[in-house]
Amino acid sequence: MSGPNTNYDPVEVALLRPEAVSAAVDAALDAISHASSLEELKSVRIAHVGDRAPLSLANREIGALPPAAKAEAGKRVGAARARINDAMQARQDELTEARDAAILVQEAVDVTLPTQAGPRGARHPLALLNERIADIFVAMGWSVAEGPEVELEWLNFDALNMPASHPARTMQDTFFVAPEESGVLLRTHTSPIQIREMLRHEPPLYIVCPGRVFRTDELDATHVPFFHQVEALAVDKGLSMSHLKGTLNAFAEAMFGVGITTRLRPSYFPFTEPSAEVDLQCFVCRGASAAGGDPCRTCRSEGWIEWGGAGMVHPKVLQVCGIDPDIYSGFAFGMGVERTLMFRRDVRDLRDLIEGDVRFSHFFGGDI
Ligand SMILES: [Zn+2]
Repeated sequence: MSGPNTNYDPVEVALLRPEAVSAAVDAALDAISHASSLEELKSVRIAHVGDRAPLSLANREIGALPPAAKAEAGKRVGAARARINDAMQARQDELTEARDAAILVQEAVDVTLPTQAGPRGARHPLALLNERIADIFVAMGWSVAEGPEVELEWLNFDALNMPASHPARTMQDTFFVAPEESGVLLRTHTSPIQIREMLRHEPPLYIVCPGRVFRTDELDATHVPFFHQVEALAVDKGLSMSHLKGTLNAFAEAMFGVGITTRLRPSYFPFTEPSAEVDLQCFVCRGASAAGGDPCRTCRSEGWIEWGGAGMVHPKVLQVCGIDPDIYSGFAFGMGVERTLMFRRDVRDLRDLIEGDVRFSHFFGGDI
């Protein structure tokens, strides 16, 4: 850099000589045309347009020239810098366009390619069957009642006419919540829900109680330590076994097809009197196999399938719940949901129902 000097000869300032300016322009244009990416162009810009570029340095020398020389030198350097800037801008536009086009190709998404969809879940067949059963009763005007799985021993046994000394109490192998004398257990059946409802509400009462119950059974193809029951309870004035039978038949028809009926066989439960086993007419052969027709695998050619238990609510159970058995009577029945699903859909191994393999649920689809 030089200070003002009236004797200054621009020809002597090397950077401002026409050939030097021309060479700087040639070098810059050459570098610009060879820049193959925006990053390279950036380096070219620093080298040929930046503060330390030859023409930038030359431009600073102009101020030191005598006035007569300034105009010509300024015109020369200005034109040179303008050419470089124009070329730089043009190359920048080209490279930007090329980069954008490349990105469009690289990031293109072929929407027609098959996707790797994640595995889909399915409703468990037991959940679907439980809902279907509840729907059948709700459609008849009944309501759905639920209760806790950890239950009071009194509600699970005593209130159901099974005092501590009652032999029936040992028929159901029970999980007690420690210590055993705590009076708390995992419910062995859904019947305590009925007690809770009778204690809570005045008759008339029409409820269906689905739920999970627990027994100390070892796990094998036909036993699991927990399973699902559905019980139904009706308490009203003038209810009789015929109402029980009619309700069971309506339930059987809704589940297994028009015309399918049930039969009752005398039995014993502490909480019903009289009590009965409920058999379902075979929905495959409709009894034909037992009458000499083709053998039937579903009912083992017996014509009937054991389905559950039923009976008229024992007067003592009504009394415990504060219901006068001289005014009201009730009927109740219950069945295992797993068992119902097994013979309805020919499931052979109970363990398939609890292992949670989604392929099992998918197999049964939505129509359970
Ligand atoms: Zn059959």
